[in-house]
Amino acid sequence: MPGIKIDKSYCKGCELCVFACPMQIISMSKEINLKGFYCAQVHEPTKCIGCRICAIICPDVAIEVHNYGTQFTLFEY
Ligand code: SF4
Ligand code: SF4
Repeated sequence: MPGIKIDKSYCKGCELCVFACPMQIISMSKEINLKGFYCAQVHEPTKCIGCRICAIICPDVAIEVHNYGTQFTLFEY
C-alpha cells in the first residue's frame, strides 16, 4: 500500500488535490493550520493507488507519496 504524507503546515487549503485524486480519497479536514487554512487529509488511505497526481498538482509541495517499490496500475477505477 502506498504511503501518503500531507505536511499540514504547507497546505493552503486550495482543494486542488481533492478534485485531482482519481480515487476521491482526499478531503478537507476540520483542522486549521498555523496559516489559518483548513488542511487536506486522506480519509481512505487503503484505497490509494500511488499515482502521485495529488503530489504533482499541489502548488505548495505539501504532499509526498511513497510506493515502497510496488507497481500500481494507474486509473483502474
Ligand atoms: S493541493 Fe496542496 S495546498 Fe492545496 S489543499 Fe491539497 S495539500 Fe493543500
Ligand atoms: S497518490 Fe493518487 S490515489 Fe493516492 S491520494 Fe494521491 S491522487 Fe489519490
